[in-house]
Amino acid sequence: MMRLPHFTFHAARTVREAAELLASTPGETMLVAGGTDLLPNMKRRQQAPSTLVGLRRVAELRQIANGTGLTVGAGVTLAELVRHETLRRAYAGLWQAAAQVATPHLRNMGTIGGNICLDTRCNYYDQNYEWRKSIDFCMKKDGRTCWVATSSPRCLAVSSTDTAPALLSLGASVTLASADGERRIPIAELYRNDGIHYLTRLPHEILTAVHLPAQEGWRSTYWKLRRRGAFDFPVLSVAAAAQVAPDGAVTAARIVLGAVASRPVEAPAGAQALVGRPLTDEAIAEAADLAAQPARPMDNTDFALVWRKRVTRDFVTYALRELRGDDVRDLRRRIARQDLLV
Ligand SMILES: Cc1cc2nc3c(=O)[nH]c(=O)nc-3n(C[C@H](O)[C@H](O)[C@H](O)COP(=O)(O)OP(=O)(O)OC[C@H]3O[C@@H](n4cnc5c(N)ncnc54)[C@H](O)[C@@H]3O)c2cc1C
Ligand code: SF4
Repeated sequence: MMRLPHFTFHAARTVREAAELLASTPGETMLVAGGTDLLPNMKRRQQAPSTLVGLRRVAELRQIANGTGLTVGAGVTLAELVRHETLRRAYAGLWQAAAQVATPHLRNMGTIGGNICLDTRCNYYDQNYEWRKSIDFCMKKDGRTCWVATSSPRCLAVSSTDTAPALLSLGASVTLASADGERRIPIAELYRNDGIHYLTRLPHEILTAVHLPAQEGWRSTYWKLRRRGAFDFPVLSVAAAAQVAPDGAVTAARIVLGAVASRPVEAPAGAQALVGRPLTDEAIAEAADLAAQPARPMDNTDFALVWRKRVTRDFVTYALRELRGDDVRDLRRRIARQDLLV
């Protein structure tokens, strides 16, 4: 049985208290929300903070506020998001992403903030201490070499959060708070293509909220490839959103790929190919070709990387057909049953 190492725990009551605790020893202290990612990582000694600051009792992080858009506190659980009727109707892509994270039990504990800040993943890293020791560890923790690409100067661990691609496709922004003050940035600027330093969040900052802009005329969707339909991390995902005029022409669009790099990857050329025309088969085919090009999957997660690269185009196609209004539910069920994955 894997046991947690010893650590000191503080249950913060306010963002200010949490920020002050974090600022006192930022290198050794980590925030814990639902703990569904961090605690297993600590058991495997992938992350080894000496102090944890708990956010579950911080009431101000648990609000969802309606305004011109929707502001969701970082401590809102994924289960609460999935139950939120406005979110389901207006932000379908985010709703679909949240509903496919892990299992119902984990969604009851796991928060949107923890999902946005989820650690990157790799077959050589998500192993217990003894396994990692047997390969002399790797660059991401305790070692020097990247076993995925031994000449790589940086870690190539994969961004595996479901909600981040959906949030990028919706044009969301986030608030980061520290003992020094607050700043708000587009969520795209929160991520870096670096498996170790995958967030631009400073060590003493807390993600307090995610802001979703109003979605006048926008439709959105999220497609996820995983081995088990019941629960599994994404090994490829596509988040797509389009603003469609009453005459059917697309006036703006965003396509974002997940699990193909150490950060969610935007595909602007694919999105641009949709603008100014209706979602015809031709427009979708052209956009799917272009949108698949930035996908650079590595050989460090499930399924063959060549195949994951190849089906990216298909997943973009499914997502865009769903935005058009096609009934792709049967397709989703068949993909979940693996019928189409041969
Ligand atoms: C079996 C299993 C299956 C899973 N499947 C999926 C899946 O399919 N898709 C998926 O996306 N995830 C999956 N997860 C991971 C995890 O359950 C979710 O990502 C969850 O949303 C994490 O939220 P949390 O609140 O539990 O995060 P925590 O574990 O508490 O924290 C995760 C990270 O975020 C940081 N953090 C948390 N809150 C904040 C904050 N407010 N500000 C700054 N940093 C913060 C923590 O310090 C930590 O580094 C799975 C986990 C397990 C165990
Ligand atoms: S990509 Fe390389 S350095 Fe990063 S976790 Fe995997 S093996 Fe380690």
